[in-house]
Amino acid sequence: MTKLLQGHCAVITGAGSGIGQAIAVGYAEHGAKVALLDIDKSAAEATAQQVAEAGGKASCFEVDVANRQQCAEIAQGVVDELGKVTILVNNAGINRRNPITADQADVFKDWDDIIDINVKGVFNITHAFIEQLRANKGRVVNIGSIQSFVHVRTPNSAAYTTSKHGVLGFTKALAAELGKDGVRVNAIGPGLIETPLNAHSRANNPDLVKIFLDHTPLGRAGQAGDIVGPAVFLASDMAAYVTGTIIMADGGYRTI
Ligand code: NAP
Repeated sequence: MTKLLQGHCAVITGAGSGIGQAIAVGYAEHGAKVALLDIDKSAAEATAQQVAEAGGKASCFEVDVANRQQCAEIAQGVVDELGKVTILVNNAGINRRNPITADQADVFKDWDDIIDINVKGVFNITHAFIEQLRANKGRVVNIGSIQSFVHVRTPNSAAYTTSKHGVLGFTKALAAELGKDGVRVNAIGPGLIETPLNAHSRANNPDLVKIFLDHTPLGRAGQAGDIVGPAVFLASDMAAYVTGTIIMADGGYRTI
């Protein structure tokens, strides 16, 4: 296999589960050293075990991306341990569905948590690594969503939809700002991917899954591994003239 990320060092947030875990292993298989950041260090360590089994090198860091101070401290730790950082994957995220008319305590908490992690968290980590990325002609891959666009089929998720629009907006704005430094910034928009994030919904709300799949030309839910190819591509030199855009990995959901 041609190793597309040989010599790179990639930071991946939310690397202890689902899409982040798959990207971490995929990047390691393509030759990158990986820094595995997660709020749950034991989960990151489980990913590190998979990276080691794939013949790669990983270091684990516990961080809450919503905590700006922690992000800054971890960034220094990553550089001290792994050397210069060339790739950042902003993947950590949460999702909760609640109508805006639900109990105020729930709605306010969901809004604050989702914006803090999905939007501010992306900013916090990116800012923490910004000088590394500028110095090393870095590549940023942000995980958006089909909800980086508006859908009537994804109800009761104003906070999540807002956050993923924010991720896409940040992607474009940062690409515009950092292009002069040779930094490329792109996003991936996954469709319904079977991960722990949506295990509860899939188990308890089959109607919602059916609505998604009825509008997915490929006719199946995605797996975390389906996001690895786009993530490797965007981080690699194959995407040398690609910036400020989003690659949808959604089985065609947005086409119909
Ligand atoms: P996941 O399996 O729940 O993995 C997310 C990881 O991020 C978990 O390890 C989680 O830890 C960690 N995390 C949560 N909050 C964090 C924080 N404050 N700081 C650091 N790490 C934190 O979810 P996933 O499905 O792989 O989702 C990854 C990304 O893809 C998210 O941005 C999500 O919005 C996006 N996405 C997913 C889908 C989908 O269908 N799965 C579709 C579109 C977009 P804990 O488990 O301990 O909370």
